[in-house]
Amino acid sequence: MKNLSQSQINGIGMTSKRTRDRLIERLRQQGIQNEQVLEVIASTPRHLFVDEALAHRAYEDTALPIGFKQTISQPYIVARMTELLLQSGPPSSVLEIGTGCGYQTAILAQLVPQVYSIERIGALYQQAKQRLAELKLYNVELRHTDGNGGWPNLNYRFDRILMTAACQDVPRKLAEQLNQGGEMILPYDNGKEQLLLRITRKADDYETETFEPVSFVPLLPGIS
Ligand code: SAH
Repeated sequence: MKNLSQSQINGIGMTSKRTRDRLIERLRQQGIQNEQVLEVIASTPRHLFVDEALAHRAYEDTALPIGFKQTISQPYIVARMTELLLQSGPPSSVLEIGTGCGYQTAILAQLVPQVYSIERIGALYQQAKQRLAELKLYNVELRHTDGNGGWPNLNYRFDRILMTAACQDVPRKLAEQLNQGGEMILPYDNGKEQLLLRITRKADDYETETFEPVSFVPLLPGIS
């Protein structure tokens, strides 16, 4: 495992503090209000989650390719989903579906005591695992499996679930892994457009709130 130097983490030039501060300003202008979320985004080295050739674009508010036809989410979307996830109070655990490069996972790990994340592409899982260890984020557990089935062999439930790939049907097994009162944030594809949803588990039912249109890669079955 590589030991990252402080200057690699802090970044220089297009990955420097000043560049990151401009991104935070932009997120504020777009309506992100949770100061804790903004602070964590400001201090997390997004340039270390993309290919070196793209590092100079890491603090643009845009999605970028991470290989295997997948993308690292746009910072605004990461901020927005994280803000929605924390809105009703601090959760003690969160399950993320779609680790990808691990950037959203890293943000969550600094805001929630225990983070679980599932990725279906083996190579992305391996890379994310290494990056998160290099950043010393030890409160994260990763699995290479199909997130449609939820966390394997689970003997408890999550306070929150965050899905970072778009589904056409909410996977039942996932919804069942939510605590009472637990919430799931996900991009839902209704055939015409993708919308951000928050689903709350009530006594015997689920309540749905709808937010803005989004654009995510699809939730796929199986592993690769
Ligand atoms: N959270 C990432 C976004 C990654 S893109 C970020 O911070 O940028 C979505 C990811 O979901 C891809 O890596 C894709 O491989 C993964 N994915 C799609 N379907 C999945 C499934 N059924 N189970 C687990 N991961 C899945």
